[in-house]
Amino acid sequence: MLTIESRTTDVLVIGAGVAALRAAVAAREAGAEVILCCKGIVGRSGNTIVSTADISAYIPALGPDDSEETFASDTIQTGGSIADEELVRILAERSGAALLDLERLGIVLLREGDQIDRTRGAGHSRARTYRADSKGLGPNKGLALSLPMTERARGLGVQCLDRTPVVSINRVMDGSPVRPRLTSLGTSLCRSRRRPSCWHRAAHRTCSRARTGRSRPPGMP
Ligand SMILES: Cc1cc2nc3c(=O)[nH]c(=O)nc-3n(C[C@H](O)[C@H](O)[C@H](O)COP(=O)(O)OP(=O)(O)OC[C@H]3O[C@@H](n4cnc5c(N)ncnc54)[C@H](O)[C@@H]3O)c2cc1C
Repeated sequence: MLTIESRTTDVLVIGAGVAALRAAVAAREAGAEVILCCKGIVGRSGNTIVSTADISAYIPALGPDDSEETFASDTIQTGGSIADEELVRILAERSGAALLDLERLGIVLLREGDQIDRTRGAGHSRARTYRADSKGLGPNKGLALSLPMTERARGLGVQCLDRTPVVSINRVMDGSPVRPRLTSLGTSLCRSRRRPSCWHRAAHRTCSRARTGRSRPPGMP
């Protein structure tokens, strides 16, 4: 039987990769009520977990060898000059502080003594690539980012919904403030007996299994 549940929240975050988890933490830290929906398992889905967990950032305190301009120019050149220059400028300006803030969120950066380890990553003309410690996490090194962020988000009171693909969002103008209303149907509510490996009957027409014949969509355990 299909059950439909309505929820209201200040902020709805869709997805649970690094971007979504960081946004959820920021919104919660700013005092908002936050629901985070993930079509897979929160902290264990998306490109984030298969990444190498290498993070490039410009940290001004590391000395005059590097600069925002050099970081930005490497980024634009390596990206085949198709990057949005304004966004690259913001990245160059804020990446250092954002990187160091990861430690506050529980992510362990590899260190040599007091110094955070840095290497010269692909596409960078300076040693400004840092790595999260993924020892013991197996091949999915990106878990070194996503698991601590998930723990932090949950600890702050973000409501994390696993296996909850957002299938539609209706914006309803019902006075101030405007709140988006979403329809999300979790696997546990609607797993089909006739198609046991189809995780979501309502989404079946568009899910990757229907398109590719794979038994599960990417990111599903
Ligand atoms: C092999 C590989 C190695 C990489 N290595 C690096 C690296 O070393 N350094 C680096 O900086 N970058 C690397 N990248 C790129 C990096 O992984 C991505 O840029 C980054 O993880 C993107 O994060 P994200 O949060 O935007 O998206 P994702 O991590 O892909 O997260 C998307 C989330 O959205 C969820 N989702 C999608 N649709 C729905 C829906 N309808 N409803 C609910 N949830 C939904 C997914 O389940 C997932 O949780 C690598 C990428 C790959 C593939």
